[in-house]
Amino acid sequence: MLEGPLVFVDIDTQRDFLEESGALYVPSSLSILPNLARLTRFAERRGIPVVATACCHSADDPELSQFPPHCMAGTAGQARVAATACPDSVILGADARLEGPLPRHLTLQKHSFDVFSRPDTGALIARYDERKPTFVVYGVATDYCVRAAVEGLLARQCRVAVVVDAVRAIDPDAESALLEDWARRGTLLVVTDAICSETVPVDFEH
Ligand SMILES: [Zn+2]
Repeated sequence: MLEGPLVFVDIDTQRDFLEESGALYVPSSLSILPNLARLTRFAERRGIPVVATACCHSADDPELSQFPPHCMAGTAGQARVAATACPDSVILGADARLEGPLPRHLTLQKHSFDVFSRPDTGALIARYDERKPTFVVYGVATDYCVRAAVEGLLARQCRVAVVVDAVRAIDPDAESALLEDWARRGTLLVVTDAICSETVPVDFEH
């Protein structure tokens, strides 16, 4: 059962991953756009905090020896897709640190696919976790950035849910084994319909 309050974790829903012409299109991820939009609107309407992550690369990032150049700083492909864009987001560059209270929408830029590669991510997550929320994770790609986020949250004993119809993998054959493994480790597997429901306990004191 989904236990509130909720914190949404929107992983790398950027144009280079989710648009067919993007630099590193994740197969069939166009199909999750409607669910991403529903989750985003629901969070906005119910005041659910969102932690959004975003690759923001420069040419010398080591990750670019593993993947083709993508989400390069300052390019259109680095931006979030319209479905998850938040004009009021507080955007933290990879080397910036959050001053003051947690905003409703926080964007954590990163030089590596693992959001926990930022030295401040663990402490930020701990601030949300004080309220014992369920971290509701969605985005791309299940087998890289989502995986790093889910496993990083599990390693910190956080309560985690993954929205299975709002994630997509670079290797689609790898996805079901990952989901099974996370479920075995206590992760709740949910669908967008179940999250975007008026009965879900969302309250989160900012
Ligand atoms: Zn990247």
